[in-house]
Amino acid sequence: MKQNLIPFERVIEEMKTAISDTLTIDKEKITSDSSLIKDLGAESLDFLDINYRLEQTFGIKMARHFIIEHIEEMFGEGTAVDSNGQLTETAVKLMKIRLSAGKEAGESFDELTPGMDMDALPAMVTVKSMSMAVMDILDSLPEKCPACGASSWKTEDGTHVICGGCSAEAPYENGDDLIKNWLEKTQKDHNIIKS
Ligand SMILES: [Zn+2]
Repeated sequence: MKQNLIPFERVIEEMKTAISDTLTIDKEKITSDSSLIKDLGAESLDFLDINYRLEQTFGIKMARHFIIEHIEEMFGEGTAVDSNGQLTETAVKLMKIRLSAGKEAGESFDELTPGMDMDALPAMVTVKSMSMAVMDILDSLPEKCPACGASSWKTEDGTHVICGGCSAEAPYENGDDLIKNWLEKTQKDHNIIKS
């Protein structure tokens, strides 16, 4: 369900804090459009650190794998990346559908094209796109607490959600499962991968 306890602005703020703490750079230098790699100088290991901080902050489990890896695993090798390590049309179509959920006016994701080198993908990860991944997980909050049945989620610090009935921690889905479920549903709705 779409939760409304933690607004997107708060997620962006916490994302900036996690990045600034990991990379030891001024928070003011980080904008929602900053590419973590291109603009802020993050390296692959930094992503583990940033993810860990976010998991602690929100009580969530971030995805460990990119959507490309999930497509390959679910629909077969070569579905998302060809033998030259370039993105297939299928991969680009799926990624564009996913990105368009949080699209703003004027944003078109033109750099995402079939034939693009998959190694260029990490540089496209921005503060905003990572925050959307967090929001996706937060929005997996079920309506009712599975432990006591109450629908009275609350947060005291603005980042951790607990049950107002039994104080259980919010049972979010993990990031990888969410991507897999999304891929399954999107393939059913759009039939992008012809078998
Ligand atoms: Zn409860």
